Amino acid sequence: MELQEKQTLLDELKQELEADDTLPLRGSNLVFGEGDINSQVMFIGEAPGFHEDRLGRPFVGRAGELLTELIQKIGWKREDVYITNIIKRRPPENRDPLPEEIEAYKPFLTRQIDIISPRVVVPLGRFSMNYFLPEAKITRDQGKIFHVDGHIVVPLFHPAAALRSTEVLKTLTKSFEALPRIIEEVQGGAIAPENKKPVEVNPQQQLFSL
Ligand code: URA
Repeated sequence: MELQEKQTLLDELKQELEADDTLPLRGSNLVFGEGDINSQVMFIGEAPGFHEDRLGRPFVGRAGELLTELIQKIGWKREDVYITNIIKRRPPENRDPLPEEIEAYKPFLTRQIDIISPRVVVPLGRFSMNYFLPEAKITRDQGKIFHVDGHIVVPLFHPAAALRSTEVLKTLTKSFEALPRIIEEVQGGAIAPENKKPVEVNPQQQLFSL
């Protein structure tokens, strides 16, 4: 798809999100997502927090600073990747998103992923990971490579969890360092999104772990 066409479709999607008054969390601001809409990698967090709600941008608080740092450490630039969340508005007091909230925003995220069509989707944290891989466990499965619905999915710990634990930070940093190689392998065809059906988490579908 041409860049201009992608941009138009994303603008339309954002307008639909803004106009849809059946969506939950309408009391908070819309945080649609940002970055390179032609990126090979799409990072998907959970939901906006206080700072994100204020600025209308994803990952701009402390967790966002860490995410930006990790992106830079592997030689990428934040503006060269695409960053969004499964939920596009802040839940009150940053509580966990409810299943019905995730469901309500699902069609929008699905379209956003389809338009951007990244080679690799990187869910950050348990909620985002379970959106793609309902059976997965973050401690067991972070850093592994899965095929889900025609996408390559590499779940990682949420940066906020890494701010609370040095062990988690170590693991997140290590898994992050493997991302450039994964992208290369995907580009080179060594890892290919194979099927259109969601797959259950199964060690045999895991190509290699990090
Ligand atoms: N945490 C998230 O999951 N998303 C954000 O945008 C910010 C913090």
